[in-house]
Amino acid sequence: MSAPLFPLDPSLWHATARPAPVYAPLDGDAVADVAIVGAGFAGSTAALELATAGVRVILLEAREPGWGGSGRNGGQVIPGLKYDPDEMEAKYGAEAGRALVAFAGSTADAVFDRIARLDLAVPHARKGWIQGAHDAASVATVERRCAQWQKRGVVGARVLDRAAAAAEIGSDTYFGGWFDPRGGAVQPLDYVRELARAAAAAGATVHGSTPVTDVVRQGDAWRVVTASGATVRANKVLICTNAYTGSLLPPAGRTVVTPNSYQVATEPLPADVAATILKGGRVSSDTRRLLAYFRLDHTGRLLMGGRGPSRQPTSAADWAHLERAARRMFPQIGDARIDYRWCGHVSVTTDHLPHIHEPEPGLVVNIGCQGRGVGLETAMGAALARYVTTGDARVLPFPILPMRPIPFHFLQEFYVAAAVQWYRFLDRVAA
Ligand SMILES: Cc1cc2nc3c(=O)[nH]c(=O)nc-3n(C[C@H](O)[C@H](O)[C@H](O)COP(=O)(O)OP(=O)(O)OC[C@H]3O[C@@H](n4cnc5c(N)ncnc54)[C@H](O)[C@@H]3O)c2cc1C
Repeated sequence: MSAPLFPLDPSLWHATARPAPVYAPLDGDAVADVAIVGAGFAGSTAALELATAGVRVILLEAREPGWGGSGRNGGQVIPGLKYDPDEMEAKYGAEAGRALVAFAGSTADAVFDRIARLDLAVPHARKGWIQGAHDAASVATVERRCAQWQKRGVVGARVLDRAAAAAEIGSDTYFGGWFDPRGGAVQPLDYVRELARAAAAAGATVHGSTPVTDVVRQGDAWRVVTASGATVRANKVLICTNAYTGSLLPPAGRTVVTPNSYQVATEPLPADVAATILKGGRVSSDTRRLLAYFRLDHTGRLLMGGRGPSRQPTSAADWAHLERAARRMFPQIGDARIDYRWCGHVSVTTDHLPHIHEPEPGLVVNIGCQGRGVGLETAMGAALARYVTTGDARVLPFPILPMRPIPFHFLQEFYVAAAVQWYRFLDRVAA
């Protein structure tokens, strides 16, 4: 197996998750109706749904379920996409647009409904998401966003003026904001591990430490080849490797850029301090292009996430900007110790929407989580499962698109670095 890009171990989630089953590597030559590559939220949910429907499914994971973005993220479950409902309806037309708005609005339900229905052992709280307006101009953005979701029946969505945002968040950083009651928090590594466990309990075969090296057409079916030489013959293959797709399917990998997102977590805060931050267990991120995202975990640690170097981190200094941001925004945390620092890749498409590709019939690629994938990729996994069982593309929330590699993709590190500088400049100029 190839060396990890970077270890999962330093993450808060890895340190606090329940012990996970060890899934044995694939051995020999297996047969399935559907083979799935990548055990994050998307692949694990697809495996769970397929197995529950009685489909023979094999889930292949290079390392362990949750090794990718799904075990490293902020655990903020936020519905919606980059575009607001009116924009989605304008972009896709009334009927398809309305369906997409309904899908985008349901992605947090996809998480919390599964946790409840399957009784998954996941620390979670559904107390809502606050999006802070980072400058005066963004106040209009959050007001518009809130009004559009209110119009579509989101009961309890409300605009926060500057004082209300400060009181709710526990920081006077923002010019205002809006509250979305659909959002919430999970321990993401526990969540993805529970999805994989539930998939196995429903009849899926799950293999860890099984990097897939090739997927080749074999008559009417596909042959999935792994690093050890073991194979799966399957009628259909779902590629759910998202930001980590590049080496398996380079043409798909070239359709996205994969910036690195960084996080820190403090030691558990004294109860009276924790009580001042995001009261009631809400989660929060802001309207910046290079957004800041933060929350408390279930033990009262403050987590702060945001941009960081595209290259792999080399020392704690690569997280220093997040530590400064946490202390600037929340002076009440004083000199609270930073216990964890970690990062992971997100995949971003040129139109900021998730992409589904089917370069050949029966080979389906899911890519482009846009950094908001806890709900989205759970819902995408379920939709992909419906698609491979029915063959009806109308069950998918997005059209199947041709793969269009980003020109000069090999320069992506430079693109990302340049975009970060430019967005940082815009965020400052506008503030
Ligand atoms: C630091 C960070 C913070 C984030 N914060 C949030 C947040 O708060 N809220 C939110 O909604 N989203 C957040 N996201 C985004 C979210 O984590 C992702 O969108 C989501 O996890 C993607 O899920 P996935 O199943 O599509 O892919 P992944 O979870 O990345 O899973 C892909 C899997 O494929 C495996 N794989 C890759 N190649 C192969 C191969 N050749 N063979 C076999 N297996 C392979 C990998 O090991 C990996 O486990 C964050 C992401 C990061 C990195």
